[in-house]
Amino acid sequence: KSGFVTIVGRPNVGKSTFMNRVIGEKIAIMSDKPQTTRNKIQGVMTDKDSQIIFIDTPGIHKPKHKLGDYMVNVAENTLNEVDAVLFMINAEEGYGRGDQFILDRLQRVDQPVFLIINKIDKVHPDQLLPLIEQYKEKLDFEEIVPISALEGNNIDNLLQVLKSHL
Ligand code: GDP
Ligand code: MG
Repeated sequence: KSGFVTIVGRPNVGKSTFMNRVIGEKIAIMSDKPQTTRNKIQGVMTDKDSQIIFIDTPGIHKPKHKLGDYMVNVAENTLNEVDAVLFMINAEEGYGRGDQFILDRLQRVDQPVFLIINKIDKVHPDQLLPLIEQYKEKLDFEEIVPISALEGNNIDNLLQVLKSHL
């Protein structure tokens, strides 16, 4: 199995942290500051039965300045070049206007979109179900997978799910 997978989401949801965890190298710059990732960064995950190329993107958000505009374009342009899209959200923050901006763009994507709920280490398990119900109404997600990119929870499961769609 092989394919291209892009990771999109608001700044700071953990896209680069996830990328680094699956690729196993510190190739994407991580920080607390939003917009550290200015260009798309690609990394290849290879294991015995698959090869997945992950694309870490700058967060998609309503641009406030020229550089922001450019970064949003970088992220948006990857959407139609890939086999699957991971739309990552922060479990702790829940739904916000920034997400709707991205969801509007994902409506127009033909590729399967997976909802990745990150930072589950920061919330009580009871908080997940209402969040899932809320997002389910926004888009027809292929699958919904909660993870912790930082602690590594459920990452293997996510990779299995992804492989089954490639
Ligand atoms: P990006 O802007 O989406 O690429 O976000 P980053 O990967 O740069 O992460 C932003 C911040 O969130 C960093 O301080 C990360 O350590 C933190 N972070 C990322 N994933 C998790 C997670 O699963 N749990 C917790 N608690 N923090 C996380
Ligand atoms: Mg980043």
